[in-house]
Amino acid sequence: MSFAAEIRDKATTLWHIQRVKGLVRDHTQIGPHALVTVTEFHCTDPACPGLATRITIFGIDLMRREVILHRPVAQITAHHLRNVSAPRARR
Ligand SMILES: [Zn+2]
Repeated sequence: MSFAAEIRDKATTLWHIQRVKGLVRDHTQIGPHALVTVTEFHCTDPACPGLATRITIFGIDLMRREVILHRPVAQITAHHLRNVSAPRARR
């Protein structure tokens, strides 16, 4: 891949990361103080040779929830987030 194509590829991935963060916030209604991180990584599961996406949600109470979706970030839609929920505080 050329350097220019590599930069374009990175920019596209970053754009999708921001897009998925927005989807997670809309879906979980987690509020402005929670932290959402989205990262794309190479899945180590031999049955899944492609890219996977890790979504981490930190609530303001520091409860953490992590979800791994076995697909590239560019392919994630609201449909894939249906099982993603906000961390629940322990009582
Ligand atoms: Zn995978």
